[in-house]
Amino acid sequence: MPLPLLPLLAFGAHPDDIEFGAGGVIARETRAGRRVHFVVCSRGEAGSNGTPRQRTVEAKRAAKLLGATIEFIALDGDAHLEVKAKHAIKLAGIIRRVRPGIVLAPTVELNQHPDHYKLGQLVRDATRLARYGGLKELKARHAHATGQLLFYAVSPDAEPRAIQPVLIDVSTTDVLAAWTGAMQAHASQLRTRNYPALQLARASVNGSRCGSPAAIALWPNDPLVFDSLAPLARAARSF
Ligand SMILES: [Zn+2]
Repeated sequence: MPLPLLPLLAFGAHPDDIEFGAGGVIARETRAGRRVHFVVCSRGEAGSNGTPRQRTVEAKRAAKLLGATIEFIALDGDAHLEVKAKHAIKLAGIIRRVRPGIVLAPTVELNQHPDHYKLGQLVRDATRLARYGGLKELKARHAHATGQLLFYAVSPDAEPRAIQPVLIDVSTTDVLAAWTGAMQAHASQLRTRNYPALQLARASVNGSRCGSPAAIALWPNDPLVFDSLAPLARAARSF
């Protein structure tokens, strides 16, 4: 019997991270009926382009195009994020509220925006703390064990090299259209570089690794667990 589609909870350090790093996966999941919620941990106020107000509007529009809900939280501010227990506990409180089956966070590779890898560390800690019954700050809600924590890479430099990714096929026309639209919604960020073209090129490369026109790589934090070998029917190497 298939498991029910528990919500997907995606964390981003900046208003465009989730869309650029994993937007196609989001579009694919919402179209499959999964509820998706974004938590954005700054307004991108340290960015070179776009005001916090513009960037908030852009992120809300992008989330809507992907079929996700969105909230903004304040931690230390853009470019000032630090790994602190109180942040991990705050994020754990959100995990307990949303009760996701899947959590997405930026990878913890160091050679990227420092907020990205620090948020990845915080979310990894938060998924752990959300499970622990005795934390007094989290007592208001029942403990919650997330099914899987998966990391997304906002940029090529953020891709972990030491572990194989899970490749998610995002090649259907409507998924690619929703993803592209969500990336283009961040118009303030596209003045200096064509990020949608970069991300679609990455998806094309990942697709070529598994015989699909487009795929997005995600990196699991823990071993993936299946009931049988049946879900592993699709091969990466079919040529
Ligand atoms: Zn970012």
